[in-house]
Amino acid sequence: MGEFGLIAAMAARMEAAPGAIVGIGDDAAVLHVGDSRVVATTDLLVEGRHFRLDWSGPADIGIKAAARSLADVAAMGAVPEALLVGLGAPAGLPAAWAQDLASGLAGEARRAGAHVIGGDLSGAAQILLAVTALGTMAGREPVTRGGARPADVVAVAGRLGYSAAGLALLQAGLSGPAEVLAAHRRPQPLYDAGPEAVALGATSMIDVSDGLLQDLGHLAAASGVLIDVATAGLASGEPLVAAARALGLDPAATGHPGPLAWMLSGGEDHALAATFPPGAALPSRWAVIGRVREGRGVLLDGANYRGESGWQHFR
Ligand SMILES: [Mg+2]
Repeated sequence: MGEFGLIAAMAARMEAAPGAIVGIGDDAAVLHVGDSRVVATTDLLVEGRHFRLDWSGPADIGIKAAARSLADVAAMGAVPEALLVGLGAPAGLPAAWAQDLASGLAGEARRAGAHVIGGDLSGAAQILLAVTALGTMAGREPVTRGGARPADVVAVAGRLGYSAAGLALLQAGLSGPAEVLAAHRRPQPLYDAGPEAVALGATSMIDVSDGLLQDLGHLAAASGVLIDVATAGLASGEPLVAAARALGLDPAATGHPGPLAWMLSGGEDHALAATFPPGAALPSRWAVIGRVREGRGVLLDGANYRGESGWQHFR
């Protein structure tokens, strides 16, 4: 099929972006954006690091790759507009695999209200994806990691620990609740919760990509505050309990691995964590999980957490 045939086959899985003045097929795309402030972020996904071909299909990988970058746009309080996708792949990769990857990318972009507007292909020893997401503030002010203030409440929109529970089952070669396996393969961030947080007066925000405690640590450091997480606010859903049972774990145990540890240190669900002024009236999908105080760092129920706080490369 060759590079150009494959590009055409993948582009056929993409809808044309209504905001694109020039779309896929020229040297570069030209895009109308909602206001003059463009939000830009990029993510790398490497075979064997971010996904395994025996655990995830091509559409799963496309969804995951898109979701990682689109969630970062939402975490600024912005509205996703566009994706640019670089793909490195071995020469023997079936064209149908790449086309299904394209469908996954396009489908998740659509769920976020965005479109794929371009990309690049190269031969590579293993599959590598580089996904750039663009968004617009659409008249809002960006919410950074640096605005949390003492007395703010800390709240999370979206699931915590599901992806980690799914990963634990896959690593153990076990089946378990479909929700957690699907959550690991196909994260489903609540993109519209990002702009919603701005409207609710969010003072800071981050997406939980590496683990709740670690990501809240970034937020606490950038804001120069202490965040105290209350386990009482972290209700582990039935799928996490069932996943623990499938792994032969005591679901009520608080050690690692287990439901509480998955929620505290599991990444890749891409829930949004934000701080809000005290007294903010939050919709029910924002679960209050803690408080901002004077100080530095992150505590769990007022004490240091002794387990892993999240994932780090090069550690
Ligand atoms: Mg992020």
